[in-house]
Amino acid sequence: MPLTVYNSLVRKLEPFQPVTEGRVHIYVCGPTVYASTHIGHAKTYVSFDVIVRYLRYSGYRVRYVQNITDVGHLLDSGEDRILKGAVRERVEPMELVERYTREYFEGMDALGVVRPDISPRASAHIPEQIEWIKRLLEKGHAYALNGSVYFDVRSFPAYGKLSGRLLEEQEGGARVGAREEKKHPEDFALWKNAEPEHILRWPSPWGWGFPGWHIECSAMSTKYLGETFDIHGGGVDNIFPHNECEIAQAEAATGKPFARYWLLTGSLTVGGVKMSKSLNNFVSLRDALTAYRPEAIRFFILSGNYRSPLDYSEEAMQGASRGWERLVGGYPALLQRLAALPPDSGPISSAASDLAEDVRGRFRRAMDEDFNAPAAIAVLFDFTREVNIRLAAEKAPGQKDLEQYAALYRELAGDVLGLLPKGDSGSRVRESSLIQLLAALRHEARARKDWALSDSIRDRLAEIGVTLEDGKEGTTWKIQ
Ligand SMILES: [Zn+2]
Repeated sequence: MPLTVYNSLVRKLEPFQPVTEGRVHIYVCGPTVYASTHIGHAKTYVSFDVIVRYLRYSGYRVRYVQNITDVGHLLDSGEDRILKGAVRERVEPMELVERYTREYFEGMDALGVVRPDISPRASAHIPEQIEWIKRLLEKGHAYALNGSVYFDVRSFPAYGKLSGRLLEEQEGGARVGAREEKKHPEDFALWKNAEPEHILRWPSPWGWGFPGWHIECSAMSTKYLGETFDIHGGGVDNIFPHNECEIAQAEAATGKPFARYWLLTGSLTVGGVKMSKSLNNFVSLRDALTAYRPEAIRFFILSGNYRSPLDYSEEAMQGASRGWERLVGGYPALLQRLAALPPDSGPISSAASDLAEDVRGRFRRAMDEDFNAPAAIAVLFDFTREVNIRLAAEKAPGQKDLEQYAALYRELAGDVLGLLPKGDSGSRVRESSLIQLLAALRHEARARKDWALSDSIRDRLAEIGVTLEDGKEGTTWKIQ
């Protein structure tokens, strides 16, 4: 079955067809690095991490771009978030940016989020943004006024197509007091003039200033992914005005469709209210990571559909921790069983390969339906239950069967969902295979009556804490 995705641009499920066969170009709006990363960010970026992992698992070659906003994202008060943060922490703006960019990546690394292929910074793409603004001016979609440049929303009739907001509705609701100099209240800034005391400013054809927030995403996504690319993602709260403005800028300038599929994640809420820095109701990712295992945080996020809102509470997190333990608890049990089994050269039983095929098929069908992680997790719960039944059966599965089950855990729970503890997923099985290999070589040496070699293998394994024990049913081993 082909992959289908819920495309917010057309508000329905659609079969996924990339611009170039076998490749996916994806852009996700990244963080504004002016304060600590909180678990609301984690929800967005873990969700896209699993989307990207699954696309790669499905055989696509993916280029994943996620920007770092370090200029131009203003608060409702008109202050630049970065400059405000720099004053708060008494540091240079770029020092603040560096501090929170590192914190962001460290947090994401801890959560097992695979880094984007490109993490472009807005402040490092000022010339590109100026070029875009020039293009919009030339095409009559923008106007310059007092050293600032605004996008003329009326010049782009499709404005509002993503968020479904009509221009007439916006006029009524447009905030008064915002930039009186604009021709229409809903026009938005592409470039803003800046006074000499404004630290984050650059020279431009319109004088010293800085780019508006939205233009960075149009400029950087198309620079690295092409003018029309496959997927644009982000948190649903950015749909208006940010994403809407991105579309208007890009399609007005290029005359081509911008992103083909819009995938938007639901917000993380606390008591039903969106978690955000500005509302001061956030739990920092650092605090969450001291209280809970990273895999349990991922499990919590993946227990709901990426498009749905998810309510955070300590009870919900404790429930997720227990759920995660139940889900992946079968994996260490398998490894322990494997470690105790003698080497076996027999084939995989058909019962084991049938189970693996069934589980993989159901898992893929779940993920192919708009990356339905909760349904995929339910498949893994069934798998864990079935493996436990087989382990407890009178005729226990052989080594090859257990290896097959362990490999399936690594493939689905590990590689795709990122729910297996890091460092544990492959190394213990590789370790046990290596010991089995050495035990088999020693067995051959003994058969040739090469006692010197067989003793040497046994002694040197003992030196690194592995004890071989010869019994009636072959050699078993223990790790100290
Ligand atoms: Zn963006």
